[in-house]
Amino acid sequence: MFNALVMEKDEESGKATGSVKQLGLEDLPEADVTVAVEYSTVNYKDGLCLSSHGGGLVRKYPHVPGIDFAGTVEASSDDRYKPGDKVVLTGWRVGEAHWGGYTQKARVRADWLVPLPGGLDTRQAMAVGTAGFTAMLAVMALEDHGLEAGHGPVLVTGAAGGVGSVATAILAGLGYEVAGVTGRPETADYLKSLGATQIVAREDINETTKRPLESETWAGCVDAVGGAMLARVLGQMKYGASVAAVGLAGGAGLPATVIPFLLRGVNLLGIDSVMQPYDSRLRAWQRIASDLPMDKLEAMVQPATLSDLPQLGADILNGQVKGRVVVDVNA
Ligand code: NDP
Repeated sequence: MFNALVMEKDEESGKATGSVKQLGLEDLPEADVTVAVEYSTVNYKDGLCLSSHGGGLVRKYPHVPGIDFAGTVEASSDDRYKPGDKVVLTGWRVGEAHWGGYTQKARVRADWLVPLPGGLDTRQAMAVGTAGFTAMLAVMALEDHGLEAGHGPVLVTGAAGGVGSVATAILAGLGYEVAGVTGRPETADYLKSLGATQIVAREDINETTKRPLESETWAGCVDAVGGAMLARVLGQMKYGASVAAVGLAGGAGLPATVIPFLLRGVNLLGIDSVMQPYDSRLRAWQRIASDLPMDKLEAMVQPATLSDLPQLGADILNGQVKGRVVVDVNA
């Protein structure tokens, strides 16, 4: 028997609630690799899956959420993995359509796993998680579109959140000048400790403007917020610069004009972490191991246990989680 955070739906109210339960191996879904999970984490999407309505992502109950996990292979019928291998999983709708990582044992498809790169342990991998993996994909996309240190400040929106914190630390570690947008002024020292040299107040950049172009300010942007903020940022990009659109913490709309694309050659790059092909996953995890300063990663970590998850799910939806939560599923 092992512990898992199980979401169950009350048929009368139609609402789901989560609690720590004991499961057996026979309860796990059929798949080729069984993993002894060591750590998981909490992303914005986990907040949705932990909510009473499943955020429109969870279709079937009982459900084990957790879109990420890292651990050790216990059994495998696939040649690529053998017992004892350290692995990490993000995406593929695990924790949404499939049972996820809020458990001491998980069974998943070998195709969804990535071998843990040298230089990272399972706890560090979950301090990174989908949020950090996506931040790395965003930085790689900006570089692929010509961003280089010395071009000017790179803006990170939602900077004190998970994606924003890791993006800030990676960019600063690579020598970029980083400006972090935050709605929580009390996180300024934290963001500076991650390497941000400029703090931009959310309200200064969150309002729509009638001017489609403002002064050319940012050499690149990792945007976790979307909505009016993304629209505003597009008009502030330098000529030919790119914005990596990662998230929608501030809204899914985009009240923008096409003028920044037409007159300044600005690029809007879409970033998806869920269906990312294996080769680019491997490349991103290797870049994380080499380019993310581990002392800064540690400074982002808030430790948690399985029983903390229902509260943390609500907190992240309210924009109240700072940095990255690491869930020790065996604590
Ligand atoms: P977090 O909640 O940790 O971070 C989001 C941050 O956005 C908050 O900390 C806050 O930063 C800021 N924010 C929250 N609400 C608002 C608002 N109304 N207006 C402006 N800013 C706001 O979430 P994650 O970092 O895990 O995820 C960030 C976004 O990225 C989410 O939308 C998520 O769904 C998306 N995402 C997308 C992925 C992909 O594959 N494309 C993968 C992972 C995440 P501050 O307090 O500093 O202002």
